[in-house]
Amino acid sequence: MDSYAVVGNPIGHSKSPRIHALFAAQTAQDMSYEAILAPLDGFVATVRAFVEAGGLGMNVTVPFKEEAFRLATTLTERARAAGAVNTLKFSGNDIFGDNTDGAGLVRDIADNLGRAITGQRILLLGAGGAARGVILPLLAEKPASLSIANRTADKARALAATFPGCAGGGFEEIGERAFDIVINATSAGLAGGVLPRLTFAFAPGCLAYEMVYGKDTDFLRQAAEAAVTTADGLGMLVEQAAEAFFVWRGVRPETAPVLKELRQA
Ligand code: NDP
Repeated sequence: MDSYAVVGNPIGHSKSPRIHALFAAQTAQDMSYEAILAPLDGFVATVRAFVEAGGLGMNVTVPFKEEAFRLATTLTERARAAGAVNTLKFSGNDIFGDNTDGAGLVRDIADNLGRAITGQRILLLGAGGAARGVILPLLAEKPASLSIANRTADKARALAATFPGCAGGGFEEIGERAFDIVINATSAGLAGGVLPRLTFAFAPGCLAYEMVYGKDTDFLRQAAEAAVTTADGLGMLVEQAAEAFFVWRGVRPETAPVLKELRQA
């Protein structure tokens, strides 16, 4: 049986084993997928041991995505743009590194939520790994504009400067502009943190997309107050997994039934 895994620290909460088990059953792939906890200083050793044991591919999650980027011997353009890798594929001595987070977000917005990205004014909140990973795939959809706002303004400026056509700065620099799609890629909601007042940023008919899932976050509360459509990041999680599955197996699973099952659970 072909062997895959997700590696992170912590990892107990991961939904990836369930998602990939459902994909494998649906597409009749003979494969196993486990969750592996790597010590904080033992990511590379954990990957090498998995490869030694015959492992074919891994998903990589917090806090190892940058280390995975450095470990990969071949990188996709989207992984290079992200500066982070969430999908590894092993063959011989080659360690292929990809980043499927951005494709997952785009597919969730465009296919699952039925919202065109082309021609839309997009505001991306946050300038960490998740924000960086989604910029290139979002730009590929040709939005009207892509603005990045972050608590640490210089990080947003530096990030925007690496992508032609993007603007970046602090939350206060958003001004009173409104956007068609606002994506929260900050981790503020994970620990119940609050964001600055944002309600003006939601144009009528806006989609407010929270990357965190399963939590009633301040971002979602502000969007509800502005009476705009909201979505959480569960669809992105399933879609980035489907993209990784495709990288490994060359087969694209159907995501709708998997997303439905996770929502019910
Ligand atoms: P990072 O730690 O790399 O970045 C965190 C970002 O959040 C930074 O921009 C940071 O700003 C900002 N931030 C943190 N706390 C606050 C706060 N209280 N107020 C305002 N800004 C804050 O994390 P990632 O980029 O890797 O992940 C971000 C989020 O995206 C996480 O919650 C993660 O769970 C989610 N995610 C979801 C995925 C999915 O599939 N649904 C996939 C990947 C990520 P500063 O620079 O000022 O510190």
